[in-house]
Amino acid sequence: MTRMLILLAASTLLAGCRQYIPTEERPNIVFIFTDDHTARALSAYGSVVNETPNLDRIAQEGIRFDRCLVTNSICAPSRAVVLTGKHSHLNGQLTNGQRFDGSQQTFPKLLQAAGYQTSIIGKWHLRSAPTGFDHWQVLRGQGPYYNPLFLTEGDTLRMEGYTTNIITDLALEWLQSGRDPDKPFMLMYQHKAPHREWHPGPDHYNLYEDMDIPEPPTLFDDYTGRASPAAEQGMTIARHLDVTDLKLQAPRSMNEAQTAAWEAVYGPRNEAFHAANLEGDDLTRWKYQRYVKEYLRTVAGVDDNVGRLLGYLDESGLADNTVVIYSSDQGWYLGEHGWYDKRWMYEESLLTPLLVRWPGKITPGTVSDAMVSNLDFAATFLDLAGVGAPADMQGRSLKPLFTGETPEDWRTSHYYHYYEYPAVHCVERHYGVRTKTHKLIYYYNRDEWELFDLTDDPMELRSVYGDSSYQDLAVELKTELERLRVHYQVPDDDRPTGPCIPNERGVPVAPN
Ligand code: CA
Repeated sequence: MTRMLILLAASTLLAGCRQYIPTEERPNIVFIFTDDHTARALSAYGSVVNETPNLDRIAQEGIRFDRCLVTNSICAPSRAVVLTGKHSHLNGQLTNGQRFDGSQQTFPKLLQAAGYQTSIIGKWHLRSAPTGFDHWQVLRGQGPYYNPLFLTEGDTLRMEGYTTNIITDLALEWLQSGRDPDKPFMLMYQHKAPHREWHPGPDHYNLYEDMDIPEPPTLFDDYTGRASPAAEQGMTIARHLDVTDLKLQAPRSMNEAQTAAWEAVYGPRNEAFHAANLEGDDLTRWKYQRYVKEYLRTVAGVDDNVGRLLGYLDESGLADNTVVIYSSDQGWYLGEHGWYDKRWMYEESLLTPLLVRWPGKITPGTVSDAMVSNLDFAATFLDLAGVGAPADMQGRSLKPLFTGETPEDWRTSHYYHYYEYPAVHCVERHYGVRTKTHKLIYYYNRDEWELFDLTDDPMELRSVYGDSSYQDLAVELKTELERLRVHYQVPDDDRPTGPCIPNERGVPVAPN
């Protein structure tokens, strides 16, 4: 009798908290994705400017990839590469201005077909409605930092508060009560932060207040020693950050109470700027501090919220059977070369963070220096779910690299192609190849080349293209670049007309 009661109680308990227990082959997947987060603002990568203890946990308990390279360093195109596992010229998303073709094959659709429940919450930024998801709540466009509007299936949702916190609230709500507990799940938990214009949440207004953030050694780069595009862009801290970027006025999306709270900390409009009363390099230094602190404050908001999510996975018992992946859509300039923004094939925007935790499968503290890419994410997610990647996906699963060993036949060169020109920030179109030690870049509208020796010149300040001692290497790299273009089925160069002249906000203006 007693035994029967216990069995009854046990079965009632089980029915009350039915929880899908994934098999070894079908773990849950949580993909944490940010917008414009450089690895140099992540302490797992040795940041000298901030601490990110919660994100670091993923690296400490899993693997850190030190050479994850994007194929096209800009928001929407990177997201399309992640979804499709194909380069921009095949998935059709060459620039931010285009609308993603959601009718094409994506990894969420393939996971769905394999019995996974798929969900995306937060930043989407692809203009068309998400496809391949059982559940989606996405910011409209870029989304503001305060009081965001979410698009959902057939509805919109206006939320009051700080966007980074709200995205986490919605993700936790879906994990707790929105999903089908009988199915394995794949959640894309995607932040707007730390994208421009870097508005921190109220918890972080005062962070770094009484200190200076170290300046990068190339803050005052004069762009000599490189091809012409480097000097002609519109993304310098000195000349192209505006009053909104510099937080001389409260965010427009704030309500009255939020604005009052903001002004209590930051002061009334423009007060800080006038009080600074600076010019020349001193003014650039002031702008750098102003900008970089706000950027890092928004990163702190992400880190706190990732801590909330990891905490929930621990408490719910999901952590053991859930692969947690952290990455950003591309890297970013925190003052290197005097810049903010991304776009270039130079290291700071080419590299993006990639951390993976899989309890029992990945040895804590593993590090990989293999040349991996956001092109590989789709094949990796499918492999985790036991689904083979379709032959037309161009990346490879990273699962075999989770040991820290690199397979013998892994790639040793990476193809990059940036298209968005003429457009905001006026960064000339270019493509190129990066090997472990060198990088060749071709600005095809100008027929100008750059070659960097990354061992001798890791900050890429001196192109050695045309230098006779690098002549043989340049020929080799051109051959490799051509091989990659054939391998990835890149069409012939499209040569638009220019020019692009940036105004003080980095926005192109018509030439006189
Ligand atoms: Ca981005």
